[in-house]
Amino acid sequence: METIGHLINGEIRADSENTQAIFNPSTGSVEKRVVLGGVASVEDAVAAAKAAYPVWRATPPIRRARVMQEFKRLLEANADTICRLIGEEHGKIKHDAMGELQRGIENVEYACGVPELLKGEHSRNVGPNIDSWSEFQPLGVVAGITPFNFPVMVPLWMYPLAIACGNCFILKPSERVPGSTLFVAQLLQEAGLPPGVFNVVNGDREVVDQLIAHKGISAISFVGSTPVAEAIYTKASALGKRCQALGGAKNHAIVMPDADMDNAVNQLLGAAFGSSGERCMALSVAVAVGDAAADMLVSKLSAAMEDLKVGAFEDESNDFGPVITEAHKERILGLITSAEDDGADVVVDGRRPYVDGYPFGFYVGATLIDRVTTSMESYRQEIFGPVLQVVRVNSMEEAMQIINEHEYGNGTCIFTRDGEAARYFSDHIEVGMVGINVPLPVPVAYHSFGGWKRSFFGDLSAYGPDGVRFYTRRKTITQRWPSMNVREGVTFSMPTMK
Ligand code: NAD
Repeated sequence: METIGHLINGEIRADSENTQAIFNPSTGSVEKRVVLGGVASVEDAVAAAKAAYPVWRATPPIRRARVMQEFKRLLEANADTICRLIGEEHGKIKHDAMGELQRGIENVEYACGVPELLKGEHSRNVGPNIDSWSEFQPLGVVAGITPFNFPVMVPLWMYPLAIACGNCFILKPSERVPGSTLFVAQLLQEAGLPPGVFNVVNGDREVVDQLIAHKGISAISFVGSTPVAEAIYTKASALGKRCQALGGAKNHAIVMPDADMDNAVNQLLGAAFGSSGERCMALSVAVAVGDAAADMLVSKLSAAMEDLKVGAFEDESNDFGPVITEAHKERILGLITSAEDDGADVVVDGRRPYVDGYPFGFYVGATLIDRVTTSMESYRQEIFGPVLQVVRVNSMEEAMQIINEHEYGNGTCIFTRDGEAARYFSDHIEVGMVGINVPLPVPVAYHSFGGWKRSFFGDLSAYGPDGVRFYTRRKTITQRWPSMNVREGVTFSMPTMK
């Protein structure tokens, strides 16, 4: 059986006895194992990164960018293999895995522009013969910890930009899906990155705790669930480390009575059930304004859902695949049942889907629940499964109040034809990423990604311009070359240009 190891100092290491099973969620069987790191692997990775840092930091940005250009070419050339590896461990269908990879590649493209991104700010003659400039210097060795649901894209949010900015990086991927992440890491080595600049240490919370506590690591990027994001942010910031920690979500779409209902239904289907709802930007709640809109929405959604196909990752005709583990499947089923017990209507019930030939896969069918209220457990929690809940309200104000009162604030969307309503919504909604007739408003690589409230802990969000600022620190230099002809006297007052 294949064992996925670490990548430390340019070499693959799978030398530990301590391993964990990796499931193929489509079949429910264990097909690989992953090595779980400990103190020694973290120490070795930090030592390799520290050793590589002085030369990498001094490498001209244009040369660092060329490594990223070659990395992009290799990612595109190996797209089929990467998507197969994602599918085997995550269960994502190839069309969806291709989308994940493409969104990741766009972050590599952005990192290719690093000579431009690192340009500083310059002011001439801030005083007599005095010039001043700010430059953006790398932090040193930084670490990233990533979730299971985007094994390639979320790591690509982090390390290409961090490395292009001159840092060395240690990645701790999700132990449930390490294969595609490690394969992609090897492509970056092949692209010409010196050994030690990028290291991957596999493992669980033990490795995470060591990375956070390690004195050799200056900053932590985290993406995962909210309780872990909050704990990591608290620990890292108490140690004086820069930290950005992206957490969970509950994303609402307001469906206004004037919306193009057929379009809203199509958009909601993809955003709620794509990737089995295991996206932090999945739309999991439709807030319908007025009973007429709600009745039409539920009737059109349930009709369209008859054609949705859940199944194994290899079959591209499937709309979405299994969920990540048996335990996660049971949790989703429990939340659907709790909604039913609390008085909601399970209009389309995906609790017992039949997937021919895959009796042990972790499948949940597309589920639609109507008449959900905000006090229900299924509403309050992030379900992270193919479940769309409908909440009925009487006005847009009521819909916005519900969204603003939810503890999460990652993404949201409004379906409407009314520009004034859309503008009011985007202005006043307390959510970090907003769509207007766009169901998954995931910012492109040259903007930045970050939710509000308990979906994000930190100041600088992920990738794009904020990513450059996160992975660098500003240094401001003020310089004077005194003229031989002009001698300054002694002054004890604060220098000014008065
Ligand atoms: P998770 O929090 O269980 O795990 C994320 C990472 O943290 C993994 O690498 C894991 O090994 C590690 N980890 C888990 N428990 C830990 C602990 N107690 N201490 C230290 N490290 C720990 O998340 P997941 O189940 O892999 O991913 C799904 C979650 O991630 C969802 O909540 C989803 O919304 C969220 N997510 C958020 C974003 C975003 O951008 N906001 C993006 C993707 C996923």
